[in-house]
Amino acid sequence: MVWLYICKRLTNLQKENIANVSGYVARNIINQVNNMSKLRFEVVTAAFGKSAVDVPNKTERPSDYYAVKVFNREKMFKYLPKDIYNSLIDVIDNGASFDGSIADAVAEGMKKWAIENNATHYTHWFHPLTETTAEKHDAFIEHDGKGGVLEEFSGKLLVQQEPDASSFPNGGIRSTFEARGYSAWDPTSPAFLIGDTLCIPTVFISYTGEALDYKAPLLKSLRAVDKAATDVCRYFDKNVKKVTTYLGWEQEYFLVDEGMLLARPDLLLTGRTLMGHDSAKNQQLEDHYFGSIPARVAAFMKDLEIEAMKLGIPAKTCHNEAAPNQFELAPIYEECNLAVDHNMLIMALMKEVARRHGFRVLLHEKPFKGVNGSGKHNNWSLGTDTGTLLMAPGKTDKDNLRFITFVVNTLAAIYRHNGLLKASIMSAANAHRLGAAEAPPAIISSFLGSHLSSILDHMETTDDVVKILSKRELRLNIPALPELMIDNTDRNRTSPFAFTGNRFEFRAVGSEANCASAMIALNTAMAEQLTIFKKEVDTLIEKGVAKEDALVKIIRKYIKYSKPVRFDGNGYSDEWRREAIKRGLDCEASAPIVFDRYLDKESVEMFRKMEVMTETELKARNEIKWEMYTKKVQIEARVLGDLALNHIIPTATKYQSSLLDNVIKMEQVIGKEEGDKMSQENISLIKEIAVRVTEIRRLVHEMVERRKVANKIATERDKAIAYHDTVAPMLEEIRTHIDKLELVVDNELWTLPKYRELLFIC
Ligand code: ADP
Ligand code: MG
Repeated sequence: MVWLYICKRLTNLQKENIANVSGYVARNIINQVNNMSKLRFEVVTAAFGKSAVDVPNKTERPSDYYAVKVFNREKMFKYLPKDIYNSLIDVIDNGASFDGSIADAVAEGMKKWAIENNATHYTHWFHPLTETTAEKHDAFIEHDGKGGVLEEFSGKLLVQQEPDASSFPNGGIRSTFEARGYSAWDPTSPAFLIGDTLCIPTVFISYTGEALDYKAPLLKSLRAVDKAATDVCRYFDKNVKKVTTYLGWEQEYFLVDEGMLLARPDLLLTGRTLMGHDSAKNQQLEDHYFGSIPARVAAFMKDLEIEAMKLGIPAKTCHNEAAPNQFELAPIYEECNLAVDHNMLIMALMKEVARRHGFRVLLHEKPFKGVNGSGKHNNWSLGTDTGTLLMAPGKTDKDNLRFITFVVNTLAAIYRHNGLLKASIMSAANAHRLGAAEAPPAIISSFLGSHLSSILDHMETTDDVVKILSKRELRLNIPALPELMIDNTDRNRTSPFAFTGNRFEFRAVGSEANCASAMIALNTAMAEQLTIFKKEVDTLIEKGVAKEDALVKIIRKYIKYSKPVRFDGNGYSDEWRREAIKRGLDCEASAPIVFDRYLDKESVEMFRKMEVMTETELKARNEIKWEMYTKKVQIEARVLGDLALNHIIPTATKYQSSLLDNVIKMEQVIGKEEGDKMSQENISLIKEIAVRVTEIRRLVHEMVERRKVANKIATERDKAIAYHDTVAPMLEEIRTHIDKLELVVDNELWTLPKYRELLFIC
C-alpha cells in the first residue's frame, strides 16, 4: 500500500510541469521526486527482494529463463512439424532460398507459441533510417463468420506486410503518391515477445526494391563478405564452406535521475545538455571507472540483465565507465545480424527498465561537456564453419599465414576506404565526440600493437620469407604467435580501430547509432578487398607461382599499401593529426562533408560490385543524413534560444535587480561615497551580468537570422553545411556566457539542475 501511494504521488509530481515552476520551488520538487524514486526503490526492494519488476524467483538461474521470450530453435523444434523445421533451419544456416509454402506452417507454430505466452498482437519489427526501431501492432484476430473472432496469423502476414510508413525517411526514393514500403521477414533473426506482442524482425524496402532500412544492406554485406572470405579461406582449408561475421558490441550510456532530467528541457528534447558549467568535481580523480556500482544502479543493471537474457541477449559484462554516472554493458559476441538486432533491442530495453528505477538513460554521444562521451565499441571478426576464428593466430605456420592474410586484408580495406568508414559512424551527435579531447579523432587509423607490427614490418622488409618459401617449405621465419602475447597488446585506448587479439575493435561508433551502419561499410570494404586479393593471388598461381609464394607476395604488397593507416601512438595528439594529413588519410571533421564519402566513385563502385547498395540508394541515404543533421542542429538551436530567453535572462536579471537593490540601500544607509566603495564587487557583477545578458540576446537573435538564411537553401547538402558552419558554432558561443552566469547567479534562483546535480547518483 505504501508503495502504491508513493507511486501515485510520484506520477502526480511528474505530471506537474516542474520545469516551468520557478527556481527554488522547481528544484525542491525535483528533489522530492528523486527522493521518492529512491524511496520507491527501497520499499520495492524490501517487498520483493531485488527490484520492482519481473524478477525471477530466487531459485531460478539465467539458464532457466534465458531466451524464454524468443522463438528460437528449441521452440521451433517443439512447435513446427519436422519437415518444416528442417527447411527453416536450412534457410537460416545455409542460406537456402525460402520456400513460400512453408510460411503458413511456420506462422501457425509461431502463433501457437506466442499465444501460449499471452501474446495478443504481432508486429513486423524493422530499423528505418532514424536510428530507432519501428513497429505497428496488429491483433491476432479475424472474423469467425458467426459474429465472433478467432486468433489468426497466416504465412502471408508473417512473410510480408505493407506498413503505412510514408513518413519514414526515404531520401526521395518513395514520392508520397507512391508511398508504399514493404517489410519482409528475416528468418535469420528469431522472433521474440515484448509484452503482449510477437515481434518479427524484418527488412524494410520500397515498392521498387530499394532498401529503406539498415537491415537489408547489412544482410547483403554479410553475404558478400561470406563469399569473398570463404574463397580466400580455401587457400588454407578446402573444407570451409561458410564464413560468418561476428559482432560483440559494448554499449556505453549515462543514467540521470528522472526528476533532474524532466527539469532540463535541453536533455529532454535533444538528449544533451546545451549549457552547464563544469562540476567542481567530475572525472578528474578517475574514481568512477570500474568503481563500485551504486546500489540503485546495481538494481537497474540486474533488472536489465534479466530482461535482456529473457530476450536471448547474452548480457555478460556491466561496469562503471570513466565519467560519473556513465556505465557500460557488453554481451557475448554473436553473429553480426543478430547482434545488431540485439543492440537495437537493448537500447529500447534500457530506456524502459531505467524508468522503473526512477532513472532516464542517455544514449547521446556527448550529453555533458567536459566529461567523456559515450561510444559503442564494435568488436568485429570472421569465423569459419570449421570453427576457426580468422583473425586469431594459430599454432602452425599455415595458421599464421592465414591469420596474417586476414589481418593485412582488413588493413588494406580500411585504408582504401578510411574516409567512408568515418562517414559510416558520423552523425550530428557523434561529431561532438570525434575529435574532442577524450575521444578517437576524426581520422580512421589502426592500432596493431608492437608484436604484430614487428611481424608485418619483418614480412615487408625481409626477403628471407620468400626465399625460404621458394624452397617449397612454408617457413615464415617469424616467431609463433601465441594468443596470449597478441592479447597483451590491447592497451591503446586512443585508436579508433584496434586489433585486440582475435578481432578488430571499431571504437568510433556512436553510442546511439545503429551498429549496422558501421558494419555495412566495414563488411563491404572487406569483401571487396578479399575479392581483389584473391584475383591477384590466382593470377600469380596461374603464371605458375606456388600458392604460398603467391600469397606472401600479395600480402607483402598490401602490407606496404596499407602502411599509412597503421598508427600505434597517441591518437588524441596534435602531432598525429599533422602526421595523418601527411600520410593522406581523411582528416575532414565537418559531418555534412564527411557524408560525401558515400558518393565517392570508389565507394559507389564498391557497393555496386559487392551488390550491397546501388547508387540510387546511396544518394537517397545521403539526403537523409544531411536532412537529419540539419534537423538536429535546428532543434538544438531552438531549444537553446528558448532557454536563454525565458530561463537564463530572466533569472540573471532578477539576481541583478537584487544586487542593484542592495547597492542603492547601501548608499542610503551608509552614504553614497562609502556605500559605493563597499559595493564595488556587486557593481562589477551587475555590469558583468548586463554585458552577458546583452550578448546572449544579441547572439540568440543572430542565430535566428542565420537559421532563416540556411532554411532558404534548396539542397539538403548545402543546408546541412550552412547549419554546420554558421549555426552550430553559435551554440557554443551562447553557452559560454550562460555557463559564466551560472557561476555567479544566486543558486536559489537558478532554475535548471546543474552538472553537479545531474552527474552524481547517490
Ligand atoms: P574491453 O572493454 O576490454 O574491450 P569487454 O570484455 O568489455 O572488453 O568487451 C569485449 C567484447 O568483445 C565483448 O562483447 C566480447 O564478446 C567481444 N568479443 C570477444 N571476442 C570476439 C570476437 N572474436 N569477435 C567479436 N567479438 C568478440
Ligand atoms: Mg572494448
